[in-house]
Amino acid sequence: AGSGKFFVGGNWKCNGTKDSIAKLVSDLNSASLEADVDVVVSPPFVYIDQVNSSLSDRIEISGQNSWVGKGGAFTGEISVEQLKDIGCKWVILGHSERRHVIGEQDEFIGKKAAYALSEGLGVIACIGEKLEEREAGKTFDVCFDQLKAFADAVPSWDKVVVAYEPVWAIGTGKVASPQQAQEVHVAVRDWLKKNVSEEVASKTRIIYGGSVNGGNCAELAKEEDIDGFLVGGASLKGPEFATIVNSVT
Ligand code: PEP
Repeated sequence: AGSGKFFVGGNWKCNGTKDSIAKLVSDLNSASLEADVDVVVSPPFVYIDQVNSSLSDRIEISGQNSWVGKGGAFTGEISVEQLKDIGCKWVILGHSERRHVIGEQDEFIGKKAAYALSEGLGVIACIGEKLEEREAGKTFDVCFDQLKAFADAVPSWDKVVVAYEPVWAIGTGKVASPQQAQEVHVAVRDWLKKNVSEEVASKTRIIYGGSVNGGNCAELAKEEDIDGFLVGGASLKGPEFATIVNSVT
C-alpha cells in the first residue's frame, strides 16, 4: 500500500437473502476493523435498506450500479438519487460483469460516472482485461481505453477510486500475482499522470480485485501501488472480509 488511505470494498453481487444478510451484517458489526481504512459494502439493491438500518456507521454503503441520468421511465433501473435517498455514499461502475455479461460500453459507463459524481456519490470505477487480451499483450491498451472513457467524462477525480480487476481473476480463484497487479497499477498511475494530472495520479487510490481472500491479501497489500481491494466472494464472509480490511501495511 502507498500513501493514500487504504480502501476495501465488498461487492456482494446478486447474492444473499434477508437472513444471510442479517448474519453477515452482524458479523461485520462485531468484527474489529483497522481505523485507518475506508470500508464499503455493496449489497444487492433490494437489501440496501436492511443493511443501512442494521450495519455500523463505520462501514459505508455502495450501489452495484446506477442509471446514467435522472430517474424516470427506465424500467428496472435504479437512479443515483434513489441510491442517495436510501443511504449510499458510493456506486460501483463498469464492473466486468456489467461490461461483459450485460454489455455496457465504455462511453455509457463514463456517462454514468459523471452523473453519479455530479450528484455527490463516490465512484468505484472498474477496469480490467480479459484473459485473451492479456495473452495478446493488450492489457495496458484495454485498461487505458477504459480509463480514458472515465477520464473523458468525469469533471473531478476527488471521489473516484479506480479498481483494477482482471477479468480472468474475478470469481475464478486465480488471483493476479502481486507483481502482475503492481505492474498494472503503476501503469494506471502513470497514465493518470500523463493524461490527467500529477496530483490526480498521486491522490487517486487504485485498488485490486479478483479472487482476493484472507490468505492472499497480505502479500498483495505490500505492493506500493495497491491501495486496497475490491472483494467479491470473500466479502460474503464477515471474518474473512475483516482479515482483508486489516491487511493494510
Ligand atoms: C469482484 O467481482 O469485484 C471480484 C473481485 O470478485 P471475486 O473477489 O469473487 O473474484
